[in-house]
Amino acid sequence: MFDCVYAPWRSEYITGPKIEGCAFCHIAKHPDQDEELGVLWRAKYCYAVMNRYPYTPGHFMVIPYIHIDNLESLDPAIWQEMTTLTQRGVGLLKDVLRAEGVNIGMNLGAAAGAGIAEHIHMHLVPRWQRDTNFITTIGHTRVYGVDFDAIYRKLRAKAKEYFDGV
Ligand SMILES: [Zn+2]
Repeated sequence: MFDCVYAPWRSEYITGPKIEGCAFCHIAKHPDQDEELGVLWRAKYCYAVMNRYPYTPGHFMVIPYIHIDNLESLDPAIWQEMTTLTQRGVGLLKDVLRAEGVNIGMNLGAAAGAGIAEHIHMHLVPRWQRDTNFITTIGHTRVYGVDFDAIYRKLRAKAKEYFDGV
């Protein structure tokens, strides 16, 4: 189910320089563009960023700054931070968006369905009791529309409360 493609270079929201190479590395190296790129939080080893092609509204990701394609080689300290941010991110989604459930998970490798397989990332997908019909109906249609920026601003406004000190 985590078949989302993160492709900020295709987004009409991005009007800045074209992104070359790995999109997640680009975000990692450009804190000056956090608002345009939808970054929610920057911790020591990882950051949290909105998925521009969300499975549900509010779908975001936790991503290490380091460009690495295999979880088994990731420094355990970085993994620990990723999981802590994920844990707190669940609380953020339940609080701000009143999520009734959250899918968390990773697609490790292209064979597992990763859109950007060369740079590991954790998905957090908020869910609601009656969202299945909605998602089935819209299929692969993008669901953000005008709500995207409003949802981003809401989550970002509360991000410090949940992620501070990680
Ligand atoms: Zn990368």
